[in-house]
Amino acid sequence: MYQSYEDYDEHVLVTARQDTASGLAAFIAVHNENRGPAMGGCRILKYASQDVAIKDVLRLSRAMTYKNAIADIPYGGGKAVIIADPRTEKTAELLHAMGDFVQSLGGRYITSFDSGTTLDDVCTIGERTEFVAGTLAAAGNASGSTANGIYFCMRAAAERVHGTTDLAGLTVAIQGVGNVGSRLSRRLAADGVRLIVADVDEAKARQAANETGATVVGIDDILATPADIVAPCALGGILSAQSIPGLKAKIIVGGANNQLATAHDDARLRAAGILYCPDYLANAGGIIDLHYQRSNWTSEAVDKHVASLATTFQEIIDRSESVNLGTSQVADTIARERFQSGEVK
Ligand code: NAD
Repeated sequence: MYQSYEDYDEHVLVTARQDTASGLAAFIAVHNENRGPAMGGCRILKYASQDVAIKDVLRLSRAMTYKNAIADIPYGGGKAVIIADPRTEKTAELLHAMGDFVQSLGGRYITSFDSGTTLDDVCTIGERTEFVAGTLAAAGNASGSTANGIYFCMRAAAERVHGTTDLAGLTVAIQGVGNVGSRLSRRLAADGVRLIVADVDEAKARQAANETGATVVGIDDILATPADIVAPCALGGILSAQSIPGLKAKIIVGGANNQLATAHDDARLRAAGILYCPDYLANAGGIIDLHYQRSNWTSEAVDKHVASLATTFQEIIDRSESVNLGTSQVADTIARERFQSGEVK
C-alpha cells in the first residue's frame, strides 16, 4: 500500500508500530541503504491522519538519502515520525516504546532529533536502543557545525561572484537568528561582515544585534533588503515566483530546509542571475557532526569534513554552468550518482 504514495520512490523499508500501553503510533521509513544504514531524525507532530504522517515520513526519508549522499557520509536515508502532540503527549513511556521500535530494526535505521524532539528526548530513546546519534556530550550542539557549513559555502559563493573567499566588507542578511542563524551571525561578524537580521521573536533579533552590531529589520523586509548574500535560516518555501523578483542579493546560502517553494524556483533563481546554494548541502554540517558522534568525533575531523561542503558546492556550480541547469537540480543529480553507486570515499 505504501507504493501508491508519491514519495515512495523505491523505499526499501516502511514499517509501522502501534503500542496501546504507551500510546505510540509511529512510522519508520528507510529510503535507501546503499551507502550504509539509514540516518535521519524522529519527528513528533500531531498529524491530522495516518495518511499525512506516511506522506511526511516518506518525503523526509527520501530527502535524507540525498542529504547524506551530498554530505558524503556513509549513511543511507531514513526518518521516523510519531503521531502525537509534542507538548502534551511526549512521555518517557512513549519515547522508550520508540526506542524499542528503532532497536527492533537491528541498526538499519539510526534516529536523532527533529522538530518536536529535543536532545533530551533522543537520550531517552537511547535508553532503549544503541541506534541513536547526536547525544555525545563533548560534541555540544550540532547547530554549530550547521552554521559552519553555511559559512564555508558562503565563502565558495563569494569566490565565484566576487573573486575572493574573504567575506569582510560584504553585507549578509539573515532571516531567523535561532540555533543556526545566531551562530552564523557570530562567525560572520568575526570576519568583518556587515549584518542585517530579522526574527519573529524580536528579543532574538535584538540579542543578535547586541552581539554582532547587526541592523535589525522587519520580517517582511529581510529577503529583499539590499545585501550581497541572503541567508534563510528560519522557514521553508521562501524562494518563490513572488519573492525572487524582489531579491537584491546575488547569493543565497542558508540553513532552512526546503527553501524553494517549487522545483521551478531553481531555474527562476538561475535566470535572475542569483547563485543559490542547495539548502540540503548548505545545512549538512549538522548531519556530518552526527556521523562523527557515532564514530571518532573530534572537532578537527568534523570541521575538515564540513569545510569540504564548499568543494561539493564548487562542483555543483561548475556543472550547473556547463549544463545550464539550476544548482538544486544539479545537486540532486550528484547525490543520486553517489547513492546509486553506493561507493563511499
Ligand atoms: P530555530 O527554531 O532555533 O530558529 C529559527 C528562528 O527563525 C527562530 O528564532 C524563529 O523565531 C525565527 N523565525 C520563524 N519564522 C520567522 C520568520 N517568518 N521570519 C524571521 N524569523 C523567523 O531553528 P534552527 O535550529 O536554527 O533551524 C533553522 C532552520 O534550519 C530550520 O528550517 C531547520 O529545519 C533548519 N536546519 C537546522 C539544523 C540545525 O542544526 N539546527 C540542521 C539542518 C537544518
